Amino acid sequence: MNCLQCRSGLRAATKSVRYASTSTSTPAISPASKSRNRRWLGILFVGATATATGAYIRQSNDSATLNQETFTKYRLVSREPVSATSSLFTLRPRKFSETNYDVYEEAWATGVWSVMFKQPQLQIGRDYTPLPTTAATGLTIEDENEGCLRFFIRKDPFGEVSRYLHTIDVGADVEMRGPKIECVIPKETENILFIAGGTGIAPALQAGYSLLSRGGKSKIHILWANRLKDDCAGGQSDSLKPVPSRGWFSWFGKRESVPDIVAVRDEDQSLIVRELEALKSQYPGQVTVDYYLDEENTFIGKEAIRASIDSVPASDSDKNNLILVSGPEGFISYMAGPKLWAQGLELQGPLNGVIKELDLKEWGVWKL
Ligand SMILES: Cc1cc2nc3c(=O)[nH]c(=O)nc-3n(C[C@H](O)[C@H](O)[C@H](O)COP(=O)(O)OP(=O)(O)OC[C@H]3O[C@@H](n4cnc5c(N)ncnc54)[C@H](O)[C@@H]3O)c2cc1C
Repeated sequence: MNCLQCRSGLRAATKSVRYASTSTSTPAISPASKSRNRRWLGILFVGATATATGAYIRQSNDSATLNQETFTKYRLVSREPVSATSSLFTLRPRKFSETNYDVYEEAWATGVWSVMFKQPQLQIGRDYTPLPTTAATGLTIEDENEGCLRFFIRKDPFGEVSRYLHTIDVGADVEMRGPKIECVIPKETENILFIAGGTGIAPALQAGYSLLSRGGKSKIHILWANRLKDDCAGGQSDSLKPVPSRGWFSWFGKRESVPDIVAVRDEDQSLIVRELEALKSQYPGQVTVDYYLDEENTFIGKEAIRASIDSVPASDSDKNNLILVSGPEGFISYMAGPKLWAQGLELQGPLNGVIKELDLKEWGVWKL
């Protein structure tokens, strides 16, 4: 599916469609001029204008259905700690709507999506990524029918909205707007290598769910880096090749690897590790995950990315094989170069960083 085929729930988002390119020579520019001289990826990006951090948020109404124009009220049903710094949030629409399910389904079928939460006192908004429903969710059929959404949110001790979300009472209202499509996964896509840092795992779960729920034999391999073991407790790497080196969290310079092998083990699985395990069980043989820990000096380096790429059959289209990168700004910059802001739009920017150095042919790259 491409964006122009989306049903009404997402139609408003198609006003500002962007494409990603693997080309490294020029920064992202308008689609019209890009098409003349650059190779295209079949990934579409939508709704960039809504991301403006700190944008003043005034629209509100009594809509029962999640939509892109106005904020819809949800109730915070629960907030379960995942680690010392992050929690799993479950929210249910304040009013029942029969169409919420269709809005979500459309977004799931399209690719990676987010919603914007409003901080009412400051009138600012931030984007967060709904988690897919898996066997590990703990949601009942009623919860799903009633349009519950779940989020994995890290509390930034100095951050306005994440701090607000971690301090409001369970039962309080939270207003959100969306969905905003962050990346369309083309129907031709067969393999995704997802490189995630911290809460960047939420879009990875989405990408896995969106890709695999289409059926077929497609695969996703996730490389997930965290600062602390607490964040991914109990996670066991499938290919188990983390190589100790200095982590991106602490140093952005050149890294030298040493050949020791460190396994990430823990008795208790964190909620997000359970989500990953549930996705694996739901799609046996199609999901693999490798964990990397800054505190254990394991780091997603060139070797890990190269090994993941080499395990996938070569393709002649960059729609078939995709690398998606998601995480804090520094993580994305290190892996694929920074995204750019221009004229109020967040653009992909040229491909740089580790992925450019690897010079991977026929892999589409998208920074989330
Ligand atoms: C598409 C998308 C999806 C996302 N999904 C998720 C998700 O699922 N889970 C999740 O946890 N996050 C997610 N995020 C990140 C989220 O949107 C917020 O950016 C994050 O929660 C921080 O927001 P905040 O308001 O708490 O912090 P902010 O108030 O934005 O502050 C962030 C940091 O910047 C510092 N800062 C702010 N202003 C200044 C200044 N003037 N000078 C110096 N430093 C400053 C603050 O001290 C703080 O440390 C997503 C982001 C995007 C774009």
